[in-house]
Amino acid sequence: MINIIVKKGYDLNIAGRPMLEMDKLEKPEKVAVLPEHIPFIIPRLKVETGQHVKIGTPLFEDKRDTRLVFLSPGAGVIERITYGKRRVIREIVIHLDKDETSESFEPIGSEKLESMDGQDLTERLVQGGMWPFLKGLPFRDIADRQKPPSSIIVALNSKDSFLPSPQVYLSGKEDLFMYGLSMLKRLSKTVHVMVAHGDVLPPWVEKNITHTVKGPYPCDDPGVLLFHIKTSQAENNAYYINGQDLILMAGFLRDGRFPTHRVIALGGSKARVKTHVLARIGLPIKDLVKGGDDSFRVVAGGVLRGYRISTDSYLGFFESSLTLLAKGDEEDFFGFLRPGFKRPSYSRTFLSVLNPSALPMDCGMHGEERPCVNCGTCASVCPVDILPQFTFKCIQVGEVEESLAHGLLDCVECGLCTYVCPSKIDVTMKLKTAKAEYYKERA
Ligand code: SF4
Ligand code: SF4
Repeated sequence: MINIIVKKGYDLNIAGRPMLEMDKLEKPEKVAVLPEHIPFIIPRLKVETGQHVKIGTPLFEDKRDTRLVFLSPGAGVIERITYGKRRVIREIVIHLDKDETSESFEPIGSEKLESMDGQDLTERLVQGGMWPFLKGLPFRDIADRQKPPSSIIVALNSKDSFLPSPQVYLSGKEDLFMYGLSMLKRLSKTVHVMVAHGDVLPPWVEKNITHTVKGPYPCDDPGVLLFHIKTSQAENNAYYINGQDLILMAGFLRDGRFPTHRVIALGGSKARVKTHVLARIGLPIKDLVKGGDDSFRVVAGGVLRGYRISTDSYLGFFESSLTLLAKGDEEDFFGFLRPGFKRPSYSRTFLSVLNPSALPMDCGMHGEERPCVNCGTCASVCPVDILPQFTFKCIQVGEVEESLAHGLLDCVECGLCTYVCPSKIDVTMKLKTAKAEYYKERA
């Protein structure tokens, strides 16, 4: 096992972490798939309103590669297809049958898996709509199956306490975890399993860990690991998958059933219940945030990396985290006179630095964007040693090559530079957008 030390980053001490327990939600009336939240894809529908679908029926394909299909997580009638700006498909809503039926896929036993070649395995994962669980670094698009990876990184996500904990989602899944690792080894000779230092995991997980990473958030991001272990630019071309998706992928291949449930971490200071729930993929947000008032905002996908989602919407196919935070847009009269004992902040401006308790976070900016003052705070937390302030300025003046030289492609989009910036500049979004544009132009 290799131990890596990541010196930079920051652990947010935010209140409302989900407990390490698991509830089970009842079956919802409807589920939906949200193509607009799947980065980079250009969706083309394969179904229409009123059509009946089974679990595993293709709903849409990616126009860039029409063999990449996205399957239905429920069986029922397509009730509604909604569109956003420029006819981007927003939601495909399925009204579930009482007794759901499923498309059948050939199950692959462990012995058969051992004798399969990588190409055959890839084909089955593509046809079964499971390939999109594998992502490619550095752009975090769906893995390009034409380019064999330098390695595959399995990230167990133990450092971000608002994402599902491996202690919960791996519980009782030893067979699937081992099967999943065998599966990845058919796709690449080098498979890294990483975990944050100090986590307590079952022995059958620990004996498969290849790297422990010690440091603050986001030290266990696959991009951070790659940054610290790669020896050449060629190794940038790695795939990664998170632990829960590995379990879902393994379950599909071994049992021949398209997944319908996943573990969701429900937290945040405004969540009525802070726990893990086993819920239907694509369920209505309302089913998860029952009993709340309108004093909160819902963030899907993690506190620093996620996006705001309406309570009238649904949880995206790849999402496994929902955090309820106070809006934070109400006027804080004479806030400048208050000591801020309960206000989380990276800067030492508030007395909260003396308060060891986890503090409630809100969605407010608490000020407007101002010019960069070159304070270097963003660089002091960047886990991959980028100088974010210079990188985003290069982007602003169109110096793409210069921004690449500053390490733009190493950015893991962790959100920390935005969080700590005293000038309220959304540095992460500027870098993320520039990376995506560079990727699209190159493609
Ligand atoms: S933290 Fe903000 S103000 Fe300070 S150098 Fe970075 S971008 Fe500029
Ligand atoms: S530049 Fe990228 S990796 Fe560095 S702190 Fe900002 S978002 Fe995180």
